[in-house]
Amino acid sequence: MRLTSGSAVALTTLAALTSPGSIQAQTDARLDGLKDEVLEMVEADGKMVQEIVDMLFSFGELGFQEFETQRYLTGILEEAGFEIELGVAGMPSAWTARWSNGTGEPVIALGSDVDGIPQSSQKPGVGYREAILPMAPGHGEGHNSGQAVNIVAALNVKELMEREGINGTLLIWPGIAEEQLGSKAFFVRDGTFDGVDVNLFTHVSANFGVSWGQSGSNALVSAQFRFRGETAHSAVSPWRGRSALDALMLMAQAWEFKREHLRPAERSHYVIVDGGDQPNVVPQTATIWFYFREVDYALVMESYNAAKQMAEGAALMTGTQVDTIMTIGSAWSAHFSKPVAEATYANIQRVGLPEWSQDDIALANGLQLELGQDPRGLPTEVGDLRGPSDPSRSLGGGSDDIGDVSWNMPTVTLNYPANMPGGPGHNWANGIPMATPIAHKGSLAGAKVQALTLLDLFLDGETVDAAWAYFNDEQTAETRYTPFISSTDQPAIWLNEDIMAQWREKMRPYYFDPDRYDNYLEQLGIEYPTVRSRPISEEDSS
Ligand SMILES: [Zn+2]
Repeated sequence: MRLTSGSAVALTTLAALTSPGSIQAQTDARLDGLKDEVLEMVEADGKMVQEIVDMLFSFGELGFQEFETQRYLTGILEEAGFEIELGVAGMPSAWTARWSNGTGEPVIALGSDVDGIPQSSQKPGVGYREAILPMAPGHGEGHNSGQAVNIVAALNVKELMEREGINGTLLIWPGIAEEQLGSKAFFVRDGTFDGVDVNLFTHVSANFGVSWGQSGSNALVSAQFRFRGETAHSAVSPWRGRSALDALMLMAQAWEFKREHLRPAERSHYVIVDGGDQPNVVPQTATIWFYFREVDYALVMESYNAAKQMAEGAALMTGTQVDTIMTIGSAWSAHFSKPVAEATYANIQRVGLPEWSQDDIALANGLQLELGQDPRGLPTEVGDLRGPSDPSRSLGGGSDDIGDVSWNMPTVTLNYPANMPGGPGHNWANGIPMATPIAHKGSLAGAKVQALTLLDLFLDGETVDAAWAYFNDEQTAETRYTPFISSTDQPAIWLNEDIMAQWREKMRPYYFDPDRYDNYLEQLGIEYPTVRSRPISEEDSS
């Protein structure tokens, strides 16, 4: 299955280059030969990419409950000779897989998120809303694909490292509960990445992409505020009750007034996770869950501290108490390594976008029509290498706790083209392509880029040093990392326990069975692609 012809080419090239001063040329020629070879090796592993992508899609696990995913992926890696550690950094569903050769230096980590989105269960390859299990969780972002990118890249590079005697360590890790921004600051705090030279993160997208410098992502704190009052009969003796829900609603209202006076980059949102039990019992407890986002640590803390004061004020107004304020997730705004991003981008250009079939394009067009957009299919050109964004001009946006990693070691995020343009994000629509040839080909292309970048880092003799020079001399020259989490905060591993307890057994019959089916579309009996001839908005307009 793995090709070995390229090694002969590399050795011949080496022998030809013996003149003094040609060491760099020899290194380049050897690296180039191995790169050609690894591209063929990864290409031959398309089936493995497809199976991993389909399997994780079918698990559809939410943050902190990624146990099937853990079992399956660590099984593959253990069999391939990696040393597995489970329950890393106090998170039962977290894990690392480590393999070293020779001196073990440099240490390159490969990470990608694995968690899903509530209520986003969706039949893949169907260009409109049709759940596998209505209301069940699913991969409505595409986090089912990144581990296939990393693992297939790592296994092939490992094979070359063994054969060629290349020194280094591969450390594979999962972004647990990324949707709750729940894990990466804890990985950092607990030393999971100690000794790592470069962290190659990867995230699903509709196109290839990589950036360096200050990213446009927002920093974030996620926190739950719990109020405590006194229960009473809501009709017989309401004057004896003190409603925790009243406090919660006043706090939320205060935040809505504050919203007028926040900067354009600010994003905040909340859900009520406990609003009492039933109307005729004055709520004794109530809990509201906020996300506060701004461009940097200081501005996020300003929001968080203002919210804490509002909570105290709301408690005073209602005769209740602030029972608990719990930080349960956090993220720094990311800053990515210039040397590693440049190496990655050169590899993106070398690999290029997958060849999309007419069926792939028809699915994308179908969904875009369904969502009321002009059909624009799938990307045909890779974008530019993006440089730093200017926080003072930020209009806000999402967050990713890879930011915390990026402030502790040279890091980049490789975006690979396994999704399609048009979805609103965190939605069933974003799950549609994620177990189809679009995701399979896009993830395979991502694995090729990741494998090439690994070879650069292990062999070119300059990118790792340049990455640390950039990290020390430029990135962290003026900014110091202060974690949002304290030394005693614990990961919120109880999150989503109840939802997965409700759904897991119902989802189990739909787990991908590669012994019986070639792919998940076949298992579900879905004709690819299935799209409406007209969007539903027209059909409904009669
Ligand atoms: Zn994500």
